[in-house]
Amino acid sequence: MRLITRQILANTVADSWATQYSDKAMPDKDAILIKLCKLGENPDPDTVDKLIGNDSWTRTSCSECGVGGVDVVDCEYEDEDIMLCGNCLRCALSIIGEGKKALPINDYLREVLCAYLPYHQAAAVMELLHDMSKATYQPKYPDLYLEFMNANKCSFSENHPQETNKPYYFTLFTVVSQHVMGDCVEECLDKAIEIAQAKQ
Ligand SMILES: [Zn+2]
Repeated sequence: MRLITRQILANTVADSWATQYSDKAMPDKDAILIKLCKLGENPDPDTVDKLIGNDSWTRTSCSECGVGGVDVVDCEYEDEDIMLCGNCLRCALSIIGEGKKALPINDYLREVLCAYLPYHQAAAVMELLHDMSKATYQPKYPDLYLEFMNANKCSFSENHPQETNKPYYFTLFTVVSQHVMGDCVEECLDKAIEIAQAKQ
């Protein structure tokens, strides 16, 4: 495993560029190489992108959630690069270590969501919340779900990833519970059932 950051990639661009375009004489590529070399050993990644005309040489992205521009760990597997961001690594740790216990990682992701995030990043974190919950949530009243759903009209809706008042994957509405939120169907049903029981 090794760390990959935009800076680490930027530091190797001149060498990689020289290797990639070493075969034929290509004056435009050579001109870029000269400029890249002038940036020194620790060039600013944005400057490298501008020089080349795109960000493909300094781009990092997570293989699991797709978030880009973040530091990732490269876990090579049979010549394939599997890049994982911090959020996904924390999720992996939680799945492996915490097993079926409570979901501290989901609360952490919720904090991340409540800060402003660009749409595609927020959507990726929302999907993680959902995946994590499906993998680790321990249903409380599974025997009551069918009965509850037969007795109450249940409307599930997915929350907007950038709605910071609703940093959960789902909202469930029933007349008896009103709106309850959760990261998986079972979590929503458990909350709704508890409210219904308290009203009896
Ligand atoms: Zn990720």
